[in-house]
Amino acid sequence: MTAVIVGASLLAPTPAAEAAGVTTHGWMAVEAIDLVDDPGLMALLRAHEEQVRAGAMFPDVGYVNGNTYGEEAHWQRFVDAYVDLIAARTDCGPDLADPAAPCADMIAHAFGVAGHGMGDEVWDWLFEPNGPDLDEYYVNGLPTANEGGAETQMDLVAVGVHGVPRPAIPALPDIPTLLQAFEDAGFGGVTESQFALVPHAAAVWDLETQWAAEHLAGVQAAMPWMSANMVTAPGGVDFAAQAIAGYWGSMWGRLQGDQPPTEVSITYPAPGQDDIPATGWVRSYQPGSSRGRGGARTRITAVLTHARPYAPPTGGPGVPAEMAPGTMTVTDVASGAALPVLAGFPRSVPYGGDAGQHLIDVQPAQDLSPCSWYEVAVGVTTPVTDARGEPVTPHTWRFRTACGAEAHTITGTVTDPADQPVAATQVLAYRTTDGFIPTGQAEAGPDGRYEITGLPEGTYRLAFLPPADAGLGMVWSGQSPGRGEAEPHVVPGAGLVADAQLAASRELSGRVTAADGAPLAGIAVYAVAATDTWVPTGVTATSADGTYRFQGLPVGVYRVAFQVTPGSPLGWYHQAATRQTATPVPVGATPVEGIDHQFTP
Ligand SMILES: [Zn+2]
Repeated sequence: MTAVIVGASLLAPTPAAEAAGVTTHGWMAVEAIDLVDDPGLMALLRAHEEQVRAGAMFPDVGYVNGNTYGEEAHWQRFVDAYVDLIAARTDCGPDLADPAAPCADMIAHAFGVAGHGMGDEVWDWLFEPNGPDLDEYYVNGLPTANEGGAETQMDLVAVGVHGVPRPAIPALPDIPTLLQAFEDAGFGGVTESQFALVPHAAAVWDLETQWAAEHLAGVQAAMPWMSANMVTAPGGVDFAAQAIAGYWGSMWGRLQGDQPPTEVSITYPAPGQDDIPATGWVRSYQPGSSRGRGGARTRITAVLTHARPYAPPTGGPGVPAEMAPGTMTVTDVASGAALPVLAGFPRSVPYGGDAGQHLIDVQPAQDLSPCSWYEVAVGVTTPVTDARGEPVTPHTWRFRTACGAEAHTITGTVTDPADQPVAATQVLAYRTTDGFIPTGQAEAGPDGRYEITGLPEGTYRLAFLPPADAGLGMVWSGQSPGRGEAEPHVVPGAGLVADAQLAASRELSGRVTAADGAPLAGIAVYAVAATDTWVPTGVTATSADGTYRFQGLPVGVYRVAFQVTPGSPLGWYHQAATRQTATPVPVGATPVEGIDHQFTP
């Protein structure tokens, strides 16, 4: 029997159509090793990396050639039985974390198996629904590929783009323990002969590498987003690795007789994620990539480190997937109101409730508001129970819906004291971190209206600068005289409007002379308001006759400084050396004249 023929039989159509491919499964589990909290466990798994990878491929071999164990090997029910058998052994040595200890390869295998089930859950629920959303499908004669899942297609990306290596499949560590674990889980009838193909699982990689030569470019062309994002997308390789590492932390404690409280390991949306769609929420939610499914981006999912309750595989009353009201909630942060929940939610996902799943999900029964924050709470008001009947550690996080272009726009109207529009007023939008150059800028039209679009996220204060000949003074948002007191506007935001009414010009004027009394031309003159730091409110220069004139200063108190050339020392009114000792000059409705300065040698 050649490897290829073995591979072909391995890859006979399986009931697990909606699942990650075995190559991707091995990759996810190996990626998770670096994310493990406990350094001892990390070292053990690293030392037995190929056993981890082989364990992560093991469940899907259980679907082929009349094998029966595949489905059962995916679930917490089986993993708990396997872990408990290892924990009960007396021949594992004094230190379970010792990579050379007798049970180390068995631990690595069990953890790899667990990584497979977790990988399927997150991949099926969060990644594959992107297929129908984006209409990304590729079959085109690719063996074992179908539209219900993206596993073979993405396996080609894994081997062809990401260089996932050919697995080196070690021998199964302990077949009697494995068979006993199926018995203990309540799943009888598994025999050693069902594991006959396990040592040949690397043939899948060989076949996929051959297929990639013919099909990879087609997969990338027909499934561009999924091909480009299979690592970083929710439910993809990185997400799965994080979920698997959390699961392993729980298993590691259980193995040592001290299983920690079940926690949320990772969520979709991510905490603080701010681009979640506001619409499209009221729909049917299914796993996988079959046409007509989808809704990948409108799901609210938390991954647990230990499963929800499970039932025996046969004969029991079963466990409902639906969870009690209040176990998982969504609240509009601004109003504090809890959102109504879609029928059937919150619930365990992606599948039925009986086998021990790790994902829980709540779906609002309405669309969300754009540009709004929502808080998700797990087990805060009503406990979520795990498979031991223990409460999951309460967990909350927030996400925001995407803001439309209008939320990145500030508009308004600029008027004069007679409520007439002031055309050609420059409106400058400063973020907190801006210096002299504003982030956004627009000019008011003949009707006095302006619109600044495309503003990046931030808090803005606006300056309104009328044309020089308007006889009007500048003002900051909120009719403030300076930037420090200006009214802030937070982008993104709904309906951001900043109107301004410009007051009549406030004038300040004077004359600059040399020590001999001759007029000095081209001297820079600065009107410095109390709150100015780097940028003075007013900047002008003297004319040939030594005179200068500010028009349109905001009402306020100024220190006036004079400078011969850039970088030279400032002289301050009235003949002072520093800003602190300068004479304050109040500027109001009445023009202020005679603010003169004489440069002395
Ligand atoms: Zn699977």
